[in-house]
Amino acid sequence: MDKQEIIQADQDYFMNVFGPRFPMVLEKGEGVYLYDNEGKKYLDFTAGIAVNALGYNYPEFSEALKEQVSKLIHASNLYYYEIQAKLSKLLIDNCYADKVFYSNSGAEANEGAIKLAKKYFKEKDEERYEIITAKNSFHGRTLKTLAATGQEKYHKPYTPIPQGFKYVPYNDLAAIKEAVDDKTAAIMLELIQGEGGVNPATQEYIKGVRELCDQEGILLIFDEIQTGIGRTGSLFAYQDYGVEPDILTLAKALGNGVPIGAFLAKDEVAQAFKPGDHGSTFGGNPLACQAAYTTLNIILNQGVLDNVKEVGTYFYNRLLDLKDKYDFIKELRGMGLILGLELEMEAKEIVTKVIENGILVLTAGKNVLRFLPPLVISTEDVDQVIGVLEKVFSQIN
Ligand SMILES: *Cc1c(COP(=O)(O)O)cnc(C)c1O
Repeated sequence: MDKQEIIQADQDYFMNVFGPRFPMVLEKGEGVYLYDNEGKKYLDFTAGIAVNALGYNYPEFSEALKEQVSKLIHASNLYYYEIQAKLSKLLIDNCYADKVFYSNSGAEANEGAIKLAKKYFKEKDEERYEIITAKNSFHGRTLKTLAATGQEKYHKPYTPIPQGFKYVPYNDLAAIKEAVDDKTAAIMLELIQGEGGVNPATQEYIKGVRELCDQEGILLIFDEIQTGIGRTGSLFAYQDYGVEPDILTLAKALGNGVPIGAFLAKDEVAQAFKPGDHGSTFGGNPLACQAAYTTLNIILNQGVLDNVKEVGTYFYNRLLDLKDKYDFIKELRGMGLILGLELEMEAKEIVTKVIENGILVLTAGKNVLRFLPPLVISTEDVDQVIGVLEKVFSQIN
């Protein structure tokens, strides 16, 4: 099929939830580059929305997957798997938690986290079932997680939405204190709101929320689906804040493109789940576990976190120069390799122009230009992006 035929088939056969996509048909990836079916090459600063931490066709990753595909892809959670055991040990050895459960997506990881929080209080015979989340948050697209998402536009098509959520302004400790009552089971927060516009939580806020949860005896859930697995320069962003959650959710980069999510907790919380309380057919199958195990090993042992810190700082400073130069850039936010430029104009217009120059970048909300490159990019890749941004921005002024 040629490009026009593929786009036409999409219009004919695929449910129209994405609207018109960027008009390119991607065919393969290599390193930090994607290639379309007309041979055009794109430097990728989206990483499949924070998924492809190692970029494309990372040799060790591709080899491990090929081997796993020919050995065993799936046989259900009725049985044990060495690769699942190894992944669980590796994750637990490298974070605050004692137990993990695997899902297939971020939304499902958050669903599981919400179920665990509710079950925890059920076990204690306490009538606590409400979850407090932040305005402008994003927690997924299942009915329960879109209800958890503090953005009106996601609720509207599905009212009445599931009950049991309260929304508070982000980074406002007084508001969250006010919102807690005797029905509150948990507070669920992103440490940097990704889809909501690359808004980092402040240190005082996260410390304050942790203290609040301890005082009230309620659970703290960090949704690190976008910030986890090295994105901020630590394996998990909670480590940058020096504050541990009760429940941690992961997905996006965990499998470097193979769908896998996870939620983790300390024993005290995890023991609330009894046999039969939760489950998944696909979750944590050998292929997904091999993907996550290999990704984590590479990130932990091949200098990826140091690269994120180094290149992230370099990128931040280069973006700061742009901000000083162009008045329509209102703010630069983020850490590591999750960075956002808030603009006066709609970010989508800029994204389109940047893509025309062979570079893929993202929006977040209406006005934020968002960068989520593979964690293995170099300063030369950053220079290329800055060069194109310069060109596009200078045509605006
Ligand atoms: C992407 C994302 C989700 C949803 O993940 P899916 O895999 O699309 O279900 C949830 N929370 C955050 C913070 C995300 O960035």
